[in-house]
Amino acid sequence: MPDIRHTLTIAKEEGWAVGAFNAANISTLKAIFRAAQKLEAPVIIESSVGETEFFGHRAFREVIDSYRDLYDVQAFINLDHAVALESINEAIRVGYELVHFDGGELPYEDNVKLAKKVVKKAHQKELLVEGEIDHITGSSKLHKSKAAQVQAEGNYTEAARAAEFVKATNVDTLAVFIGNVHGIYADSPELDLERLQEISKTVDSFLSLHGGSGIRDADIKKAIKNGISKINVNSELRLAFFNTLKDTLKTTDELAAYKFMTPVIDEVQKVVEKKIKVFGSAGKAKSKWLRRSI
Ligand SMILES: [Zn+2]
Repeated sequence: MPDIRHTLTIAKEEGWAVGAFNAANISTLKAIFRAAQKLEAPVIIESSVGETEFFGHRAFREVIDSYRDLYDVQAFINLDHAVALESINEAIRVGYELVHFDGGELPYEDNVKLAKKVVKKAHQKELLVEGEIDHITGSSKLHKSKAAQVQAEGNYTEAARAAEFVKATNVDTLAVFIGNVHGIYADSPELDLERLQEISKTVDSFLSLHGGSGIRDADIKKAIKNGISKINVNSELRLAFFNTLKDTLKTTDELAAYKFMTPVIDEVQKVVEKKIKVFGSAGKAKSKWLRRSI
């Protein structure tokens, strides 16, 4: 079976990143699978706690297993931004490959204590755990404000503190905050890439970049060069989905959802393809390095 730890290790060594795309419905899942199949890219498919409760933990696992075989795609599942242990435990039980324990808004000591607990449980099943200490501000939608306003609400990740957290908890991945706000804003957020370089040198874990939607492609590439191996994308998929569906429904009298969803799937697929190309993961699912683990 493909192994996400191996995939992220190769990505880090070779200087590319695995896209982590949010989905909570069949149409978005199809768009991600089609893009990953076409470009032969490994992908992480994830859902927030709210999205997962809407879909069902086990149903999400089973549909993705089925599509993974159908499309012959290297796809892994992540539970995104979960703080409730019930949801994390269920994701571990049904066999997600990754869980993101987001204790970023908890007191530091509580975050460490709970992250250790999650790591212990997940590692027994060889699953990866992502941790977070500095809350990533914003939300996955279209905002009228400038990114800087929302960046100022957060605490930027400090390398020494991040290293201490990773050492204390043994999390496999750390979600950093270097100005990468969630959502799409009136302007692109400026990333603190020097800070990322420092974190990358100091912290002994994979690093993930959330808020991958509004960031300039050139900055995404620089972030990958400076140690990012996993990039989360949600808002741009939601926006393509929403706008295309709205436009389609204005002009069609088609009642069959699988028919009027076709342009929606196509547009979301285009966004996923664009991101995969920027992340440098195209063609990597079939590379001999990754095939070795199958
Ligand atoms: Zn996030």
